[in-house]
Amino acid sequence: MPTLTARDLLFGEVRFPAVWLRDNCHCRDCRDPGTGQKLFGITDLAEEVVVATVSESADEVTLEFQPDGHRSVFPREWLLANAPDPSAATDHRSETAKQLWAAADLTEGLPQAVWRDYVADPRCRAACLEAVLRLGFVLLHGVPGEPGMVLRVADTFGYVRETNYGRLFDVQAKPNPNNLAFTGLTITPHTDNPYRDPVPTLQLLHCLSNAADGGETGLVDGFHAAALLRAEDAAAFQVLTRTPVPFAFRDNEAELRTCSPIIELDPTGLIRGVRFSNRHVQPLRLPYDEVTRFYAAYRAFAARAYAPNLQLNFKLAPGDCVVFDNTRILHARTAFSSVGERHLQGCYADLDSLASTLAVLGREVNT
Ligand SMILES: [Zn+2]
Repeated sequence: MPTLTARDLLFGEVRFPAVWLRDNCHCRDCRDPGTGQKLFGITDLAEEVVVATVSESADEVTLEFQPDGHRSVFPREWLLANAPDPSAATDHRSETAKQLWAAADLTEGLPQAVWRDYVADPRCRAACLEAVLRLGFVLLHGVPGEPGMVLRVADTFGYVRETNYGRLFDVQAKPNPNNLAFTGLTITPHTDNPYRDPVPTLQLLHCLSNAADGGETGLVDGFHAAALLRAEDAAAFQVLTRTPVPFAFRDNEAELRTCSPIIELDPTGLIRGVRFSNRHVQPLRLPYDEVTRFYAAYRAFAARAYAPNLQLNFKLAPGDCVVFDNTRILHARTAFSSVGERHLQGCYADLDSLASTLAVLGREVNT
């Protein structure tokens, strides 16, 4: 039985503030019926909104507000579905929406699919995109080995993020490289492009050939590494969430810089992103004590991120395309020989569009 308490609505155990209810009115004067978007700004409401009367039917609660005399009808189901829940994930990037993993957790089943099924079957596509949000990556097999195909893969869930490297980039050993990625050297686990703001939130790598010795790909759940640090060395974790680290990249055509902590938190204090690539860290210009504390914490995080039990290793075969969350998954590569060709093509894209595509697919798949 809904009642009034201090001029708010008491509905079951839940007290809904009058101003919250007034702001969420769904009537045609308050919301455009076509888009569902609000037609007023917050200062269009009275400063002191109260619920003056409440009445109910089997499935609706009707309120009258003062001082504007506005009437609002709320379905009971809507009130229940929108009741306060501090543990509800704030968005798809929230730590609470993730399943953290170490390599052994995935030996039973990698998130993977065959390209043909991915294209033909919306359920398969939804499962793959859901895996990117929950586990941080998906592996597609049998993607046609044509140059440029990586862009088509990105098109299935979002939009290519063009950068100074172009719409796509070729990862192969080349003379006079502008980036260590384009050599045969070992690359330790890292996230890409930490010097960008905003950072590309997704990366795709499509294997065209991988006949060289070595050249294995490693993936590490950076959220897991950060959560381990939080559990084992809370002070170090705090340091990495609070120290602004300068990152930069420069070549003949570009000079990119930004400053960001290694571990990004959301407003509730949970992990929202990691940015980790020592190749691009610039001199910290902070007081002595802060710098020494930072380096100790940075090493402590790296030790966890580099722990062999966290790292999932596999060798990409021609036709494989891995799609991963670049705000979470660190990727690595073992050294490869100059004998035998190794050629990957990569591109960047963004998680928000992937999440949107999944939500729209969910409308079809779940009905
Ligand atoms: Zn209204």
